Amino acid sequence: MATADYDAPRTQPDEQDSLEDLRARRETPDTAAVDVEEPESFELPGAEQLDEELVVPVVPMRADEFRCSQCFLVHHHSQRAEPGHDVCRDCA
Ligand SMILES: [Zn+2]
Repeated sequence: MATADYDAPRTQPDEQDSLEDLRARRETPDTAAVDVEEPESFELPGAEQLDEELVVPVVPMRADEFRCSQCFLVHHHSQRAEPGHDVCRDCA
């Protein structure tokens, strides 16, 4: 009669199958989240290369800004020491 007890657990695999189905459904959003993370990891190398270029960077000057010929810093036009000379007040 004990074998009947062993047979009983054998019915559980059916439940496990259903659990696997549930897990499979639960894994769907998980894998989707992983898919989102993977592209980010691939983007990092490229982003680092872009950062290296941006570290050295030519700061885009605005029309109202100028780059000092002495300290090479970009200042607002109001910081220009003399009109026609790209020298800031600090360097003048
Ligand atoms: Zn300067």
